[in-house]
Amino acid sequence: MRQTVRFGRIMGVEVGANWSLLVLVLLVADGLASIVLPELAPGASPSVYWIAGLVCGLLIAASVLVHELAHSVVALRAGLPVQRVTLWMLGGASLLGGDPATPRTAFWIAASGPLASVGLGLGFGTLAFGLNAAGVPLLIVMSAWWLGVMNVFLALFNLLPGNPLDGGRILRAILWWRSGDPHRAEIRAAAAGRVLGLLLAGLGIAQWLGGQLAGVWLVLVGFVIVASVEAESRSAQLRVALGKTPVKAVMTAAKVTAYAAMPVDRFVADIAPRTREPAFPVLDLDGHPTGTITLRRLSRVPVGMRAATRIADVQRPLKDVPIAQPDDLLADLIDRMSSDTDELALVVVDDRLAGVVSGYDVARIVQLATLRAIDQEPSTA
Ligand SMILES: [Zn+2]
Repeated sequence: MRQTVRFGRIMGVEVGANWSLLVLVLLVADGLASIVLPELAPGASPSVYWIAGLVCGLLIAASVLVHELAHSVVALRAGLPVQRVTLWMLGGASLLGGDPATPRTAFWIAASGPLASVGLGLGFGTLAFGLNAAGVPLLIVMSAWWLGVMNVFLALFNLLPGNPLDGGRILRAILWWRSGDPHRAEIRAAAAGRVLGLLLAGLGIAQWLGGQLAGVWLVLVGFVIVASVEAESRSAQLRVALGKTPVKAVMTAAKVTAYAAMPVDRFVADIAPRTREPAFPVLDLDGHPTGTITLRRLSRVPVGMRAATRIADVQRPLKDVPIAQPDDLLADLIDRMSSDTDELALVVVDDRLAGVVSGYDVARIVQLATLRAIDQEPSTA
């Protein structure tokens, strides 16, 4: 999820929001202003309901942020880096910089979010009782009460057992704890997530057909769950099948390399036709890798510019290229590569090119590994 706006850093974690968070806030405000609040606290003017609705929408976004930061605090305590927290239309997403080391850590990272939401729910509920006793206008009391109920709902909803919901991660942690294998646990937990995602999407479609626009939201959540479950279980299947296979087991020597200083027209005429590869490592004159170049990138250089453009001007710079050492885990490298067939990872030792892993190699390995993982999956019957 891309961050459109950054709010800043909290505990070293980059906190921001995607533009779609606005949709969530406005949907909440609209629902509250036109239906919920006039029913709970009748007698106010439409503009007052709208102000209360917007404040509640913003406070719900803030509640989601507290939920996500609870995950961050526990992850950071366990020594896991947290790269960023992003709020968006369907809630929040925390990007952790690695996997928890133990099922116990995984469990508490996942459980901390719903616990924080329950805490917020109790807090808002208590506040509503206090405000009521103090004789504050009913609209404010009911807004606080609604925020309490929504936070408890948020906790319960997040406990549903499908990634990327917290319940999916809790289920995975429990299966991991029982089986001792995080990747097999992931594959088993994925089955529950798939069913949940399809159920929610089906429920959403039924609501939608019944005239409730909110059904669209459930359909979206259902599809996000299915997509996330598929991606994570594929990665897990790969890890089960590849095991400790190192990068050097599949890397090949680069048959043809590009030179950074060479003009594009010469490379296209003399060098590129020597091989069937769509991507090449780029080296400088000392033989140090500087990036990669693909035929697709070269095709973007206008014909008239090809003599004056050097490979270095259009290459994908080294900082954006997936790089590995020969003994790194192949599964780690594949996680960092895109699924493009002209993707090229460089294997670099002491600033020298030791080999390459191509998108084609990866596609083949992934297919083989997935086939094998399915064979190896323990029967649950
Ligand atoms: Zn959560």
